[in-house]
Amino acid sequence: MRKSLEKTLEYGRFKGVKAIKVISTHCFKLTLLINKKLSNNVVISMKKAIGINVKPPSKACSDVNCPWHGKLSVRGKVLECTVRSTRGYLTATVERSFNRLVPKYNRYERRKSKLVVHNPSCISAKKGDNIIIAECRPLSKTKSFVIVGFSE
Ligand SMILES: [Zn+2]
Repeated sequence: MRKSLEKTLEYGRFKGVKAIKVISTHCFKLTLLINKKLSNNVVISMKKAIGINVKPPSKACSDVNCPWHGKLSVRGKVLECTVRSTRGYLTATVERSFNRLVPKYNRYERRKSKLVVHNPSCISAKKGDNIIIAECRPLSKTKSFVIVGFSE
């Protein structure tokens, strides 16, 4: 962490908080360093439960689309999968494999499918991690799932 990158935010939900790295001027694309030392006056509330039995993240984040710290609610499907790529900003590509019955041969075939999911900064899953994703409202054209935690 370099001190030269520190900047106090002038607007938005986290006005007055010191940010270590400002990625973009858009208020949703800020990487904030939120800990007790830097932001005494800002309280980031975390939901106690999101309806899924996963371990809550240890870090806090300022992401509006975070199921734990933001306003995003999860409903619908809950899947377990592996992270394949994290190239996009706050985005991960995940892969899951499943078996599908082929009735003609009465056997199973192995299938794979890829999904684009939201990767909140408090979780920030890396390539190869086994994670749990949950369905949410469409966040973009291709994203309608969010990472809620790591699977054990
Ligand atoms: Zn979060």
